[in-house]
Amino acid sequence: MAEDHPIRYFDHAATSWPKPPGVTAAMVRAIEDAGGNPGRGAHALALAAARVVASARGEVAALLGVPDERDLIFTPGCTYGLNLVLKGALAPGDRVVVSAVEHNAVVRPLTVLAAAGVEVVVVAADREGRIDPDDVDRAVREAPTRAVICQHASNVTGTIQPVGDMADVAHAHGAVLIVDAAQAAGHLPVDVRALGPDAYACSGHKGLLGPQGIGALYLAPGFQPRELIEGGGGGDSADTGQPTRRPDRYESGTGNTPGATGLGAAARYLREHGDALRDLECTLTRRLHEGLVEIPGIRVLGPPPAEERAPVVSVVHERVPPDEIALALERRAGIAVRTGLHCSPWAHQTVGTIETGAVRFGIGYGLTGEDVDVALEAMRDICR
Ligand code: PMP
Repeated sequence: MAEDHPIRYFDHAATSWPKPPGVTAAMVRAIEDAGGNPGRGAHALALAAARVVASARGEVAALLGVPDERDLIFTPGCTYGLNLVLKGALAPGDRVVVSAVEHNAVVRPLTVLAAAGVEVVVVAADREGRIDPDDVDRAVREAPTRAVICQHASNVTGTIQPVGDMADVAHAHGAVLIVDAAQAAGHLPVDVRALGPDAYACSGHKGLLGPQGIGALYLAPGFQPRELIEGGGGGDSADTGQPTRRPDRYESGTGNTPGATGLGAAARYLREHGDALRDLECTLTRRLHEGLVEIPGIRVLGPPPAEERAPVVSVVHERVPPDEIALALERRAGIAVRTGLHCSPWAHQTVGTIETGAVRFGIGYGLTGEDVDVALEAMRDICR
């Protein structure tokens, strides 16, 4: 631990820190002033809880361009949202086409589904992690396909995938498009209406700047995966069948009211300040990227600095191992980064770093140009 240094937090791709103004206060208010069970009971605290959850749903839906907020499901996180959609939509005998750079949040559920008889066809990416929609098109044409699955942005290379084109390809062949948006939501301007996915699964705690333990899943109106769990929803208690209306069908059991409220406050912040924050993130990402490529022996993974990317810059050095770099960054300058395979062995396989892993800088809210300069200076020293 670098006690002499302020924390310079470059681990936003794992989880964002700190949170913007209003998030923590909203969570405290949800507990203290709206502490009843939302949708269960008609007393003041239960009604207050229902109101804060509804308001949060509206904020997140507005941020993501979701026309009908009932199509915006609160989940415990992106992993849960992806499991819900994959397991709820796929059955033995189905065929899916998936990109070769997916996170284990997609790869592991697909491994279980493959063992149960789902055919999984993997479309390769180039060395910068880009998926070509023409390759997806070719794969989908080969046989009837239920779903195309692709991330919007990579947590390893920052590569942004053309998910709008993927939606066109999928829909042209009667398939649905399922998007892992963990690294995109909040960091990229997102309008699900324009992008056209059938499912868009987000983490609340990364670029959306909310707390951990909450996520958001957009489900297009015509896409009806089975729910992952059944249970109570507060209404229609005499009916032992699972409700079909949204969001109740997918939100059985008491939800994470403080988490949803915090995410709602973060979404409100992003609706007001998101453009400025995105500009800053792009500037800092490019500055870091351009500085890192100048350091002898460093390879920056993913597209070149001139190409748009999510605010993630991962590097390997020809001599100094990633863990050594991370340790030295924290000791020298209080810099927090993440090393290893980032739960993404497929992506590291694609870019040629499966043996070493990489050092990942995740940029986001709270970082400044000075932090980037300090990080570059430290990297120059460590890699000398
Ligand atoms: N997909 C990607 C690309 C990610 O980076 C992550 C987080 N590491 C996830 C999915 C899982 O997100 P969560 O932790 O919110 O479940």
